[in-house]
Amino acid sequence: MLIQNSPDAYEKLRHLGGMATDDVLAPTDIKFNVPREAYSQPRNRTMPAGVYKAAMPNGKTVSLMRVMFTDVCKYDCAYCPNSHWVPRKRYGFKVDELAKLFMELYQRQTVAGLFLSSGIASTPDGIMEKLLDTVDALRNRYRFKGYIHLKVMPGTSPAGVEAAYRLGTRLSINLELPTQEHLAKVSTMKDFNKHMLEPMQAIHNLIQEDGKGTAVGQVTQLVVGAAEESDQDIYHRMAQLYGQWGFKRVYYQPFRPARYTPLEEHPATPMLRAHRLYQLDWLSRIYGYTETELAPAFDQGGFLPLDLDPKLLLAAYAYRDEVVDVNHAEYQHLIRVPGVGPTAAKRIVEQRKRHSINTWRDLQAMGVVAKRARAFLGFPSYKPEKSAQMKLDLFQEHPTPAPVPAAPAATAHAGGCSSCATAACGSCPIAMLRPTAAQAA
Ligand code: SF4
Repeated sequence: MLIQNSPDAYEKLRHLGGMATDDVLAPTDIKFNVPREAYSQPRNRTMPAGVYKAAMPNGKTVSLMRVMFTDVCKYDCAYCPNSHWVPRKRYGFKVDELAKLFMELYQRQTVAGLFLSSGIASTPDGIMEKLLDTVDALRNRYRFKGYIHLKVMPGTSPAGVEAAYRLGTRLSINLELPTQEHLAKVSTMKDFNKHMLEPMQAIHNLIQEDGKGTAVGQVTQLVVGAAEESDQDIYHRMAQLYGQWGFKRVYYQPFRPARYTPLEEHPATPMLRAHRLYQLDWLSRIYGYTETELAPAFDQGGFLPLDLDPKLLLAAYAYRDEVVDVNHAEYQHLIRVPGVGPTAAKRIVEQRKRHSINTWRDLQAMGVVAKRARAFLGFPSYKPEKSAQMKLDLFQEHPTPAPVPAAPAATAHAGGCSSCATAACGSCPIAMLRPTAAQAA
């Protein structure tokens, strides 16, 4: 495959910056902590190609140069527009060229940090060496001390991982699929344990050994919907990455079919599925929902319903027969109510030490979203109706454009299936939340 070196550095940035958009950064959406790049929002047209705004965890927005070192890749990942399947002109930087280009944009204050990725043009260690040389030039020749998010190539040796750890601010290896079984469906060349989990373990060990509260953190990305993996498969992997290895973030990129790849005809994953996974991630990581608590959110196939917010669904399941008393419920119960986040729950707990809470206005002043919470919260002058109608009203105020999944066979509903649209079983919270055929009409 021909690597095109004749274009100037800015033309390469235009191309290789565009090709890097399949990788997510570390930006966050204020409401759901969803990375905006995961939704492939168009780049701000006033910014040069390859430069993206990213909201960092501290809330500040920074401009990052997001670029691939090269889009030449020998690998055969069936979902990837950079895989060897795709016949198109490829580009590649030289080490000094990329380092110099970055510093030019940095000195003009066009960018404040770098996100550097690459296709695997030679071997994992071979291409990793190029990335490390680039970052080494920035750190040691140009004395750049800012943010560098460095992709570690799948299959990088422990020595390469250690060098990346010493130079990067943030490291990531794209896991892409939750298990070896799923990975095998889309790649004949990658081994899940050897190429992904072992380097991740090596990064984790370095973070542990360091013991200095180092700023280097590990994140990863999964492609959602390319290999028939369920949301529950993804959840199990996500729980391991956060719980066992202390990952900073896991990102979910909805699959998009790329021309000429084996998955060209495979349907695109709805954005809403990735959104539901971010909500699940948030419930697990920030709200502390356990695996047992989250189980009712999945249908029998292991998928989250697209048409319902999982927190609302779980609250309807957990609090179907009880009212959450604002003045006595524990913090852990309060934050499980839709419309009550950790900040509002903490304010409620503080406020009620001084006096009883007795109005929606008080709760709203503390950050509670009343229209979401009113079917669940109670206080002396207000008791929510323990009725299906109340929950139905709540749902109808928050319609989503997602299609309701097809109703499974009636027998599947007998055990309280969370994907059933029958709406006829009075005891099932899922049925209560869906409009009947007459109401829908
Ligand atoms: S190794 Fe990375 S760049 Fe290469 S085909 Fe696979 S996902 Fe694409």
